[in-house]
Amino acid sequence: MGVFVHICRDSGLQYWDVILGGNLMPYHDVLVIGGGLAGLRAAIAVNEMNASVGVISKVHPLRSHSVAAQGGVNAPLGNHPRGGHDSWKKLAYDTVKGSDFLADQDAVIKMATEAASRIHEIEHWGCPFSRTEEGKIAQRPFGGAGFPRTCYASDTIGHALLNTAYEQTVRFKQAAERRELAIYPEWLVLALVREGDECQGVVAMELKSGKLEVFGSGAVIFATGGSGRIYANTSNALINTGIGMAVPYWAGVPLKDMEFEQFHPTTLLGKNILVTEGARGEGGFLLNSKGERFLANYPDSQKAMEVAPRDIVSRNITREILDGRGFEGGGGYVHLDLRHLGREKIMERLHGIRTICLEFAGVDPITDLIPIQPGHHYTMGGISCNTACETGLHGLYAAGEVACVSVHGANRLGGNSLLETLVFGKIAGENAAKYVQGKGAAGKIGKAHERALKKTEEKIEGLLTRENGEDAASIKKEMTEVMAKKVGVFREERCLAEALACIKELRVRFKDVALRHRGRGWNLSLQMALELEGSLDVADAVAAGALSREESRGSHFRTDFPKRDDEKWLKHTLAFYSEDGARLQYCDVRPGPVRLEERKY
Ligand SMILES: Cc1cc2nc3c(=O)[nH]c(=O)nc-3n(C[C@H](O)[C@H](O)[C@H](O)COP(=O)(O)OP(=O)(O)OC[C@H]3O[C@@H](n4cnc5c(N)ncnc54)[C@H](O)[C@@H]3O)c2cc1C
Repeated sequence: MGVFVHICRDSGLQYWDVILGGNLMPYHDVLVIGGGLAGLRAAIAVNEMNASVGVISKVHPLRSHSVAAQGGVNAPLGNHPRGGHDSWKKLAYDTVKGSDFLADQDAVIKMATEAASRIHEIEHWGCPFSRTEEGKIAQRPFGGAGFPRTCYASDTIGHALLNTAYEQTVRFKQAAERRELAIYPEWLVLALVREGDECQGVVAMELKSGKLEVFGSGAVIFATGGSGRIYANTSNALINTGIGMAVPYWAGVPLKDMEFEQFHPTTLLGKNILVTEGARGEGGFLLNSKGERFLANYPDSQKAMEVAPRDIVSRNITREILDGRGFEGGGGYVHLDLRHLGREKIMERLHGIRTICLEFAGVDPITDLIPIQPGHHYTMGGISCNTACETGLHGLYAAGEVACVSVHGANRLGGNSLLETLVFGKIAGENAAKYVQGKGAAGKIGKAHERALKKTEEKIEGLLTRENGEDAASIKKEMTEVMAKKVGVFREERCLAEALACIKELRVRFKDVALRHRGRGWNLSLQMALELEGSLDVADAVAAGALSREESRGSHFRTDFPKRDDEKWLKHTLAFYSEDGARLQYCDVRPGPVRLEERKY
């Protein structure tokens, strides 16, 4: 193992760097894995509690997928005249109904009650929200509420929020009175250090050198984002491979509700780049090949029309395409019409969308129709944890898209994900910092660190020395295509069984993967192979959960079981890792004041 000396300003070496087998090991009270919005918010919270924190991220934090968020973040501020009556109770109610009753209502209430405080907090940190004429945070309509509740910053809310949070981490880093906040960009976490039922750190690879390092800590927070890249047709960044879900899964922590994958109604034809729900919130229309606003023809969307929940709009677009009322080519598509909004509104509020349309589809939304199709967008499931962000493993926490605190249930409302990152990022940071209080580094360093390091090194050596074998890229392509084709908007037993069998075969073929490039530094084929192993296991959990759940709920629509079945299926799926694939168990949904009989929309 290489020596890693982590120099820090305001404390002695003995606290931060502890000795492992004669070498130095970087040590922080809390490690945060992921530099997106959830990870940075968690790191700030740890720091505010006067504990030391290290943020490990496989890209620079500002390149995390959070930066790509377009439309906005929900909070019941009531700043718009049409939303003046809004309250946390209404946000909670809409979220539970949107979730098709699978959300845990205590988690939803937690998020809804803290929403306004988190938004005002980040506003005070300097987040450049768009403003009303009176100077208040501007809000636009998104799916679920029926009136403007989503706080926005033109159509680049992720950029505004993530940069603001990052500025705070830099501020803390420089404040002498705080415990240290160190950022390790371009380090890929590959394994947990687990001793008994306790998490004691992680093993990570520095991408620049290929060097492996074991990091010790009193607690670890996973904030590693979604896993959209298990699908070929996703709006997610290339980095969202699912490895951050797989690492705790391999260590015995279950993944919850993985069959619930959100398909966004409007992604750009063929490219699947997102065209924000804000475009419809601002008044955009969806038109079929006859020029009709077809959502009026479906009972579940005729009231809310373009701002009905995403699962409903995605299904109704797909139905139009399947019934021949869409356009052919690229898997079929319909049109999004923004022309009637006018140049001024488009330039002010949807400027980024116009640029995307011009550059990637050659159309100008001011004068042209935009070709769109539903695409994979969001992972509702994730690392199973409670409302305190605790997993079943002591000292391991999860927050943000990688977590399943269970606020989104079977379908997430637009604008609720960024809110979740801020609310639960803070909660995870505070609870992790509390957990490590009074626990020094002593007693934390042991055989588990050496074991985890050795096992990961052997895995890498295996990949680097295998002479002949299959290319990882072909396995990845097959996985993403089968997920898109057979575990998509509409699902049925035969397709799901075929998808699951295919993923299982790919998991076997993966064992013979050989790399073209054998170097350690910046070896992208090594990185891709290491991450692909995680993607395959996550895809397996998704397909297994979807095949097993014989009902339709939220984003999971089974054509062979088209009804919601509360008697049998009002329960969460838990997937446990095994060599042969996901082992499924079920646990209860925590009900609350929003009652089941209040059917959605
Ligand atoms: C195009 C697009 C637009 C969106 N628009 C909106 C919107 O308008 N409103 C809304 O509410 N939601 C929106 N969402 C969803 C929302 O942006 C995300 O769910 C949220 O930002 C996720 O934040 P996060 O911090 O959990 O993860 P991310 O921002 O994805 O960050 C994950 C971090 O984990 C790191 N990481 C992952 N694996 C590892 C590993 N193994 N080792 C080390 N580091 C690792 C990455 O480097 C990254 O820093 C959008 C999503 C997309 C894709």
